[in-house]
Formats: sequence, structure tokens, C-alpha cells
Amino acid sequence: LKKLVESDPHEKAVTLDGHAISILLNTGLNAKQHGTILGHFDGIGLYRSELPFILTDSFPTEQEQVQVYQRLLDQYPKLPVTMRTLDIGGDKSLSYFPIVEDNPFLGWRGIRLTLDHPEIFLVQIRAMLRASVKHQNLRIMLPMVTSIEEVDEAHKLITQAWNEIKFELNYSSEAFPMPAIGAMVEVPAAVFLIPALAKKVDFVSVGSNDLIQYLLAVDRNNSRVASLYDSYHPAVLQALKMIIDNSKRFDLEVSICGELASDPIGALILIGLGYTKLSMNSYNMGRIKYLINALPRYELESCVEQALKANKGTDIRAIFVDYLNIKELG
Ligand code: PEP
Ligand code: MG
Repeated sequence: LKKLVESDPHEKAVTLDGHAISILLNTGLNAKQHGTILGHFDGIGLYRSELPFILTDSFPTEQEQVQVYQRLLDQYPKLPVTMRTLDIGGDKSLSYFPIVEDNPFLGWRGIRLTLDHPEIFLVQIRAMLRASVKHQNLRIMLPMVTSIEEVDEAHKLITQAWNEIKFELNYSSEAFPMPAIGAMVEVPAAVFLIPALAKKVDFVSVGSNDLIQYLLAVDRNNSRVASLYDSYHPAVLQALKMIIDNSKRFDLEVSICGELASDPIGALILIGLGYTKLSMNSYNMGRIKYLINALPRYELESCVEQALKANKGTDIRAIFVDYLNIKELG
């Protein structure tokens, strides 16, 4: 901890053997938690856009949304800002749009809901696009993607909104290009769709919070089964490996924005697997950067190689705990 305090927050994250790691920030629902000494980071990897919807007592208007999004896009004019489209349902509800279901996490969530209500989706996309005109630093990300049809449909609607805005503001496609569009990989089906997604989106981002929940069939908010929510479960490791290997193979940009990237052992596993873009909450950023700067990637690759042979989460965790202890970083 002493060393951590001494490390310079303005330093970039580079492993000891010279591999640069992009550190991105998760923001939105936790916007108020940002410390004042965040130091260097490479962009917003996840903006949870539910916030303006939760603060109002009816759906916010396009203009109201423009103001909220513009504030964020203006705050980081030179950095990419990845805004996720509305992800309500499951654990996130709106008082003025109640959803009653037996299995909300398997129900009307994220992109499923907004594609059934294109008027909600279009207003939000129009607002994001209008807010992005000045700095053009917007990237749009789709939550809960389960099928290519959803991506196609969302793409069609985003293109429609983009054409409308260009027409209304009298911009050419060159002056106002379409923003990059990405998909979250947080439903197990999406893990197996990377080759197809590579043809359809500009990037993917792993939502490990939901991915772990769905892979292990463990409700992420149910304390009774909390001990079964094992981020180091071998199946999680295999899924993360499949995502990074196929993304590299099919030349698809990949990042991770779930809590696993904010977890010291999680981050080391991810870097050992080959991930180079980690998006995390501000609270853990200094700690993760410190670890990255203190360790060579090739040693993390060896740890991962060992971990891939283990068949229990506790054993996988122990490999990294032991390693950190040897390095006197535990
Ligand atoms: C995730 O599922 O990992 C994620 C980043 O999204 P959220 O936590 O908002 O569901
Ligand atoms: Mg999620």
C-alpha cells in the first residue's frame, strides 16, 4: 500500500516488459464517486446511460438527454466516450415504467426492451448524436446482445437517427461520420458469436458482471447464492479466453467493462490472457495501474497457462495470490 501511494497517477499503464494497457473509466451511475486524483486514463469505456432516466419521473425528453450526454462528452473532448444505450430491466427499474416478470434477469432487459420500443431507442440515439456533434468522441454500445438480428435491427435504427441528424444540421457524412458501434458480450450466446459480431460491429466489450451470472446461473444480487458467484470459476476463464482469442483472430477490438477488470486478480488474469483494454471504476484505478506497472506480462501469461489447467476457482485464485506473494505485492 505504501508503494501504491507513492506511484504517480499520471503515469500510463505499461507492464514491466513494455506492453501498454489502456485504462478506461466506467461512469454513469457512480459519477459522484470519482476521486479528484484520477490521473491518466484513456477514455470512458462504459457510460451507464440509465442515470438521466432514473432521475426523472417520466422518460426524459430528447433535449434533456442531450444536455446530460453533452456534459460528459464535453468533459473529455479528446478521449473516446463509450455510451451504452439504455439497459433497464433485470436489476435496474424505472418507477414510471414498471416491469413485472417472474424471471427479470431472463426477461425484458437492455436491447430487447429498447428494440421493442424503438421510439425510446431512437430518441436516445438522436440525443447522443446531437450531443456528439462538437467533439465527435462518441461510441455507442448495445447491452444484452444475444443475437445478430438484434445488432442488425439496432444498426438500422442508429443509421436512421444518424441520417435524420445529418439532414437537420445540414452535415455531410464526411463532416459527421457515423460513430463506432459496439456490443456488450455479457450473455453466454454472444461469446460464441464473436466471428459473426466481428463483421457487424466495430468493437465488443465484456460485461463480466452479467456474463458470470449467466454462465454460472447465479443471480448476481442474491445473497443466498453469493458464494457461488465465482469470478475465477474455470468456465469463466475459458469463456474469457475464447472471447480474446476469437477477437484477435477476427480482428475485433475488445475491452472489458465488468467489475472483473477492477479486481486486482481479475485484472492480472485478463492481462495474462491478452486483454489490453480494461475499463474500471475510479476507486480501483490507482491500484490496478500500480500492479500493471510493477509486473511483466510474460509472467502473467505463465500464471494463466497454469490457471487454464486448474479445475477449481479457488485453485485459480491461489495461483495469482501465491504469485503476488512471491513478488511481495500480496
Ligand atoms: C456487466 O454486466 O458486466 C456490466 C458492465 O453491466 P452492468 O453491471 O451495468 O449490468
Ligand atoms: Mg450488464
